[in-house]
Amino acid sequence: MLLVEDDVTIRTALVRGLRDRGHAVSSAASALDGLRLALDNRPDLVVLDLGLPDLDGAELLRMLRAVSRMPVIIATARDGEAETVRLLDAGADDYVVKPFTATHLDARIRAVLRRTGQEESTTTITVGGLLMDVRGRVATLDGTPVELTPREFDLLLYLASRPGRVVTKRELLTEVWQVPYGMTDKTVDVHLSWLRKKLGETAQEPRFLHTVRGVGVKLVDPS
Ligand code: CA
Repeated sequence: MLLVEDDVTIRTALVRGLRDRGHAVSSAASALDGLRLALDNRPDLVVLDLGLPDLDGAELLRMLRAVSRMPVIIATARDGEAETVRLLDAGADDYVVKPFTATHLDARIRAVLRRTGQEESTTTITVGGLLMDVRGRVATLDGTPVELTPREFDLLLYLASRPGRVVTKRELLTEVWQVPYGMTDKTVDVHLSWLRKKLGETAQEPRFLHTVRGVGVKLVDPS
C-alpha cells in the first residue's frame, strides 16, 4: 500500500505502525511523488492526506480516479460533513479524521480491502529461492528460515519488492529507516553486510545483493 503524507512525524509513525501490522508500505511526501508511485507500483490501496505541499489531496484523488479504481482512504484534519460527502462522491472509498492511530487505520484498510473484494495481494514475495511472508514477517531461503531483525526484514523486503531495480542508499534511508537526513550511508552498508552474511553470500561473491558502485544496491534472482 501507499501512504501519501507530507508531515514527516505522522508519516514515520504510520509507516512503522502499518509495517508492524504486516503491510508492505511505501510512502510519498508530495502529491506528485504519490501519483508517480501509485502509477508505477500499482499499490493495493492508497492512504491520502488532503493537505499536501504541491497539490490538494482531493485534486490527486481526481487524477487517480481518472486512470484507476485502486481503493483510496482519505486522511483528513477537516471534519465537515459537506467535505466528507464531496470526497466520497469524488471516489474515495473511506476517510479517517486526524488524529488517528495506526491500529485504527489498519482496521479501516482491512475493511476497505474486504469490501472492494481484494485481500492484500502482496502477502508473499518470491525472488528465486528467497520467500518473504509479508504478514507473518518471516523470510526463508531455499525453505530454511532466515533469522532477521525487524530492520533487516524491512530492508530485504524493500529490495525484494523491486527485483532488478537499483535502489540508492538515500532512498533506503528515506523509505526503510524513514530518516532522509542525519544518517550516513554507512548505516545502510552495515545492515547490507549483515544481510549478506545471513543470506550466505559476500560482497565479493554476491548472489542476491549486488552493489552498483556509486549508485546503490539491487536484489536479483541469482538463478
Ligand atoms: Ca498534510
